[in-house]
Amino acid sequence: MRILIVTSCTGKKTFSPENALTTEDFDKGQAHVTRQEKALKEYITPAYSMYTGQQHLRLMRGLTYFQQQHPQSDVQLDLQIVSAGYGLLSAEQEIAPYESTFQGLKRKEILRRGQQLSIPEDLHTQLSTPYSFAIILLGDDYLKSCQIDDETIFAGPTLFFVGAASARKLPNHPNVHHFVTSNAEAKTYNCGLVGLKGELAGRLFTHLVEHIKDFQLTQSTDLAAIFSATPKTSELDIEPFDFTPITPPKKKSAKKATKKVPTDKTSTKKTPKKKKSPKASTPKKTSKETPKKRIKRVNPEVDKIIELPKGWMQKPHRDRLIYFIPDWDDQVDPDYDFEHDIHSGGTGDWSNQVYAHQMYPEPNYDGILISRVVAEKSKRKKERINQMGVHRYLRVPREFPVMGDCGAFDYIKEELPPFTTEELLDYYTRLDFDYGVSIDHLIVAQTEEKKRFRYELTIQNAAEFISEHKKQKLPWTPIGAVQGWDPASYRDAAKQYVDMGYDYIALGGLVRTTTKGVLEILSEVRTVVPDDVKVHLFGVARPQALTRFSDDGANSVDSASVLRKAWLGSNLNYLTQEGWFSAIRVPQVTSFRAKRLVKDGVISLDKLQTLERGCLRGLRDYAASNDDTPSEALLDLLVEYDTLIAGERAKTRQKIERTLIHRPWQSCPCAICKDAGIEVAIFRGNNRNRRRGFHNTYVFHQIMQQVLNGELEEIPFLPPPPPPKEDTANTSENTKKAEKKKTKKVSKRATQKATKSTSKKKTKKDKDLPSKPKKKKTKKDDAVELVQMALFTPPQDTD
Ligand SMILES: [Zn+2]
Repeated sequence: MRILIVTSCTGKKTFSPENALTTEDFDKGQAHVTRQEKALKEYITPAYSMYTGQQHLRLMRGLTYFQQQHPQSDVQLDLQIVSAGYGLLSAEQEIAPYESTFQGLKRKEILRRGQQLSIPEDLHTQLSTPYSFAIILLGDDYLKSCQIDDETIFAGPTLFFVGAASARKLPNHPNVHHFVTSNAEAKTYNCGLVGLKGELAGRLFTHLVEHIKDFQLTQSTDLAAIFSATPKTSELDIEPFDFTPITPPKKKSAKKATKKVPTDKTSTKKTPKKKKSPKASTPKKTSKETPKKRIKRVNPEVDKIIELPKGWMQKPHRDRLIYFIPDWDDQVDPDYDFEHDIHSGGTGDWSNQVYAHQMYPEPNYDGILISRVVAEKSKRKKERINQMGVHRYLRVPREFPVMGDCGAFDYIKEELPPFTTEELLDYYTRLDFDYGVSIDHLIVAQTEEKKRFRYELTIQNAAEFISEHKKQKLPWTPIGAVQGWDPASYRDAAKQYVDMGYDYIALGGLVRTTTKGVLEILSEVRTVVPDDVKVHLFGVARPQALTRFSDDGANSVDSASVLRKAWLGSNLNYLTQEGWFSAIRVPQVTSFRAKRLVKDGVISLDKLQTLERGCLRGLRDYAASNDDTPSEALLDLLVEYDTLIAGERAKTRQKIERTLIHRPWQSCPCAICKDAGIEVAIFRGNNRNRRRGFHNTYVFHQIMQQVLNGELEEIPFLPPPPPPKEDTANTSENTKKAEKKKTKKVSKRATQKATKSTSKKKTKKDKDLPSKPKKKKTKKDDAVELVQMALFTPPQDTD
């Protein structure tokens, strides 16, 4: 998913040396600028960390926060900056300090300079490359330089933060939305006008941390409500420049960009002539309270290659379907101290953490898929993996299957993939992969022309890939990546791959296709692909369709969906043989929401800590007891703490109660649940959340084997939890009083029938809302929810 963010440069910069570049310098041309830049060498910085104006800082805090909460996310934050000196800049582009602005220039002059810097052309290219949505934060003069008009193509929903006058001039396009930022809004959101656009965009990204999956930008999106309900960016405990820009894996520029990122505050402080940063950018107080840089300690115990049990490679389900897990650095600390929440290695790193397959007697997947863009994400990782080879790096024995691909999603916006076939062949060989996938380019463009281009390019790459592979007699299995847009296009390409001599092909671009659609494509492809040629499906290991995938001719699948569900959303977090359960949220008091409550005087830190400790102790005591149901007091406490920190959410009490009654951590035979017990069920930090994700893949792999081996006819999911008796529509009103519902004690496995609410304290706002008619649960509802659970699609949820 690509999110495009376009913002403007600000006058305040990280460095303001006397010889900063000026408009005159830029007017003298590139050669002159390059010469001047040499004199400014020590101040060269990636664009995203050059600006320290309020708009930029507030925006960056929101973006950084989002990124930190989604470290392995497939969401790409594509930040572009309109600079009055350099033109349109990508976030990672390195620049020198300069003094140049569009602000206050005459319209004609703005247009001329904009044109000269090719801003309209560059921006229009960005806007016509598909994105999930875009946020534009430009003042009137900067907006003028972009020459946005009725001819502009908007490849996705686009939100402009603009003044009232500019709003009227925006093109009338179904993808164009705007939010006016004037003095009135500045007052409403308690933020100076100068930083307001950045503040609101920052809040939007803070909001998206929990809503990225269900967020849609349409005319009816209630942005004002989102902005009001989200804390100020200044309350995020975030250094604005801890952001990681997308570094396209183009050799030169990417390397250069990663070298000088000044994330370490101490080093920038030493730099001479640095202009004093505005207060907001370096919250000294908070960095004293929570030391940012914790020491990383290596744990030699973790760096061990697993042993495969005898017969593991011959497991019967593998004749039908093989499950690969995509690697996204999913690791945990094996010695994590849950009692005190302390990482045994100080802070997490490959050198002191383990993979899921190191925690189980046998791996909880049949193979690992590792994308080149993920493998080379950081310099350290790239070095290690190149030095060790993939098997050693992943700590699996040589015979464990490891597949490599390029990670087409990462360069989806590029005109061309950033690799050549030659270097990719070399890469797969050097790192000792078992399978290597040819270079594909995802087909997403709406235009027929681009579609064709990417389709043909992918086929051409596959032809070159196998012919070179044969010529060089390489030891690993080549896989031809197929892209398409309908069954016929996939089939026609697949036919060519068979003729090229491929024994293994992989169908890509199916992640958003329905299961029915995937099956149609697969069946169509199989009409031209003989049985002895294997077919892999990228990103669609869907439990409800595993047998159909296998029956219709797939040989392998991959997906990290069950893993990631552990910490995405609030409903389907904990997979068992009987269905999904919610994890129980006990957020840390160090979270920014908690801090805000303290700051606003809603609650004292002492009281908050008492609640947090009470929740954890209560849960552990309950787990240790033989009780069938949690006490009302414990439920009250959990709901109160959850609501206090996260706001009211629908069905919180029922979700918690259902999980506690069923005790999935206790019945699960997996090594992680056996070891960590109820901690696995608690939604709190990487070490609990990822463990739950590992457990999910374990259960998924078990179910998959049972289904494929014919031991299970279908996946025996239990009916889902009962619907709420009344909608808790109010999520924005921060309330000290937790919603109080008294729930009758119910016997195990009967919650869906027996939960009754007998009394409920209504908040003022609730009273004003018309109460919805009580809806009786029907068989149809059950069926719908069951399908939703089986599809691994979270039902509409208010949180
Ligand atoms: Zn388990």
